[in-house]
Amino acid sequence: MKPRVGVLALQGGFAAHAAILQNLGARVDEIRTAEQLASVDALVMPGGESTTMSMLLERSELLEPLSERLNAGMGVLGTCAGMILLAVEVVDGRADQHSLGLVDITVRRNAYGTQIESFEADIGVDGFETPFHAVFIRAPAVERVGPTVEVLARHGSRPVLCRSGRAMVAAFHPELSGDERLHARFLADL
Ligand code: GLN
Repeated sequence: MKPRVGVLALQGGFAAHAAILQNLGARVDEIRTAEQLASVDALVMPGGESTTMSMLLERSELLEPLSERLNAGMGVLGTCAGMILLAVEVVDGRADQHSLGLVDITVRRNAYGTQIESFEADIGVDGFETPFHAVFIRAPAVERVGPTVEVLARHGSRPVLCRSGRAMVAAFHPELSGDERLHARFLADL
């Protein structure tokens, strides 16, 4: 059976995720309501702007149902702003920005200085035979990793891809480099 994967489509780069997942054979739904969320087996939370996404989650009355699904063990892939929303602790966030608190990491928003706000790098990922080309856009830095979190990739010494239970979070944009391996792994783990 094809997994039914939702892509949170309130804001940000959801379309590229949806295209890759479809290409990999998943059935993909754009998620904007609690009703839509209830019908999928797993979710991608894309990059964008975490403060805006937080506000839109609240307005769409998705915060609670999403939190419930996540705590019940739904598979989730969070990239960039999605990673920020899933983190237990956010540094340099807006005071009113919500955290779903699923992955025990501390992330600092926009941690890379203005000169290298956006950059690309080839990173080694646990289990991949060749490097993955990672695109970082105003990326968050992971400053602390709790004992339940496994680091799957680093850039320099900084963790940039982590897994915790059924959640995988990336500081970069895996949907932008024409490499489907990360999404394939996410689907394989469901
Ligand atoms: N800087 C953004 C934020 O704080 C994240 C950037 C991104 O998702 N590419 O949400």
